[in-house]
Amino acid sequence: MIIALLLLVFAVFAVVLVVGIVVRGSISNVVPRPAKLIAATLFSIAVTVGVVAGALEFRNTGGLRAPALGAPIGLLGGTLVGCLFLIWVLGLGYVYGDARRRKMPAVPWLLVALFVPNLLGFLLYFVLRKPLGRPCPQCGQAITPEQRFCSWCGVQQYAPPYGTTVAPPGPTEGAVG
Ligand SMILES: [Zn+2]
Repeated sequence: MIIALLLLVFAVFAVVLVVGIVVRGSISNVVPRPAKLIAATLFSIAVTVGVVAGALEFRNTGGLRAPALGAPIGLLGGTLVGCLFLIWVLGLGYVYGDARRRKMPAVPWLLVALFVPNLLGFLLYFVLRKPLGRPCPQCGQAITPEQRFCSWCGVQQYAPPYGTTVAPPGPTEGAVG
């Protein structure tokens, strides 16, 4: 029982550590904060349920409860399941955030990633996603290559779209003389 309690304390410590890294750390600035919070919550629940259920329900070959053995097994199982939840939710959050910064419809792509089975939705997204825009020289917001004007500050984009060679309008007036 002491071992089970110690493991529970250890599990709580590990959960706090992982949750802290996921929520506060810069795992990915693309993943929206709510997705990080949901991922961390699911991970915490899975680990806690794993340890508690393992300690309470695990029985040895003689049919007796064996919390000292059950708690580590539960911790292991809960952590594995928790990591799957964590990666899955962070992946969904990444698709949503990445689609937004690429000016793609974020919610439909989130649903594709969520409901197309066997991770094919994720695959489809990464195959079909648009190229990442470069930052606007004036305001720093991302601009897709097709855009001629920044949609945030309206400044004209001088970079030639897709292989065409367009000379940037230089200072023609005042250059003479
Ligand atoms: Zn701008």
